[in-house]
Amino acid sequence: VSNSLFKDVTLPTGRVYKQPTGLFINGQFVPSQTGKTFEVIDPSTEKKIVDVSKAGVEDVDTAVKHAKAAFEKWSQEDPETRARALFKLADLVEENAELLSEIETMDNGKSLMCARGDVALVSKYLRSCGGWADKLFGKVIDTGKDHFAYSRREPLGVCGQIIPWNFPLLMWSWKIGPALATGNAVVLKPAETTPLSALFASSLCAKAGIPAGVVNIVPGSGRVIGERLCTHPDIKKIAFTGSTATGRTIMKNAADTIKKVTLELGGKSPNIVFADANIDKAVKDIAYGIFYNSGEVCCAGSRVYVQDSVYEEVLAKFKEYTETLKVGDPFDQNNFQGAQTSKAQLDKILKFVDIGTKEGGRVVTGGTRVGDKGYFIRPTIFADVKEDMSIVKDEIFGPVVTVSKFSTVDEVIKLANNSQYGLAAGIHTKDISKAIEVSNRVKSGTIWINTYNAFHQSVPFGGFGQSGIGREMGEAALDNYTQVKSVRMAIDRSNL
Ligand code: NAD
Repeated sequence: VSNSLFKDVTLPTGRVYKQPTGLFINGQFVPSQTGKTFEVIDPSTEKKIVDVSKAGVEDVDTAVKHAKAAFEKWSQEDPETRARALFKLADLVEENAELLSEIETMDNGKSLMCARGDVALVSKYLRSCGGWADKLFGKVIDTGKDHFAYSRREPLGVCGQIIPWNFPLLMWSWKIGPALATGNAVVLKPAETTPLSALFASSLCAKAGIPAGVVNIVPGSGRVIGERLCTHPDIKKIAFTGSTATGRTIMKNAADTIKKVTLELGGKSPNIVFADANIDKAVKDIAYGIFYNSGEVCCAGSRVYVQDSVYEEVLAKFKEYTETLKVGDPFDQNNFQGAQTSKAQLDKILKFVDIGTKEGGRVVTGGTRVGDKGYFIRPTIFADVKEDMSIVKDEIFGPVVTVSKFSTVDEVIKLANNSQYGLAAGIHTKDISKAIEVSNRVKSGTIWINTYNAFHQSVPFGGFGQSGIGREMGEAALDNYTQVKSVRMAIDRSNL
């Protein structure tokens, strides 16, 4: 291991830490075989933080080779050993929580408040996965008196995992947690723009007692090494979080080797406010639903539907509340919203604002960049929109929301379901029957009632329709990383 791969980085808080900048393969940080690196940029200042090794296909192949060898041992460990390792990793994340939050804020641009929330869920989730490690049950199946039959759950092998830039560390935990609990080994590719927290956190694996080769991290290009992960014959499963477009490509590329594929993709989630809701609370929930994490949330409540009798009141209060949300330096705790993660993302959002305006939407508030350094944009509300406008149909992935009117339950269910996506939905009402009726009829993987973005490590999360396949967190995540083996034995009575 070369010490030159650990760089002293000064965080905006003044804290100095050692950032691993190599590929994490077989328990060591190593340079890429080509020696190539790429720059990691702080989106709040547009300055380079550090150069990170850029994995190529040959590095992925090396990582897979080590993961395959490590899998043979790890999958045979006592479940309790895997549980202990995940508990310890959760403890180590907790011990480093403030440092990890600061790294995440610097690398992604999200407010420190958001990053702290992410890191808290990371440790809770890893601990929860540890708890599942010794609770993998099969079934005894009655197939008649002449046989004994049972099923058991077995790990898949080496899993390729590809994650996005909006929740870099949280997605690292959603991927490695259930994979390790069930005895798999992983080769994980972070997003190009945000590799720092996953590299740092993976350096804690050895201390946690996770053997070398069980976790491998290969930062690099999606098209090059992401594709290699999808086609590599020794990778048995691909888990991906990111855009629906890339999800399609991944599924196609994984088809030749018949990999198990789970996808957590985009969304255009409806957030419905009924006239009988607690309006002041609902206004805060819809703001949190779209502007949390600078709107870079796959399940962001980006289509708000308000019942006609309270439409004007909600719109006015939503505008007023949104204008109190401060945007700027994510380390300044007065700021609710930090920077968008990249220039490309900022440009994409501003383009959508432009298209929305040209299509006839009315900007109620926001719509412009903040300052000219750092990728900051004001929280933006559109009114007077029509269902066929691209700002109502397409995932913008930024702090931009549309507000529309409806009058009846049937009408709003139709509007809510008028999407290729189906990740999440919000319902705000005091009427329990209405809440349940609408929950049952809206086609999405998660429904939040009188709250939004309310994640819990035990509650499954994932999409209907083109929002994905499979569920993360909770018991459901174990299905993604196990396969069922059935055993049926004849009972020989001849010697009895
Ligand atoms: P993306 O889906 O292309 O990238 C996500 C991850 O996939 C990254 O690690 C990337 O390197 C990798 N990747 C890209 N192409 C690949 C390929 N051909 N094979 C394998 N891996 C590949 O997302 P993006 O380009 O970073 O962002 C574009 C848009 O995607 C955003 O504007 C947003 O709308 C959406 N997005 C959604 C989510 C989500 O959680 N739903 C997350 C990130 C981005």
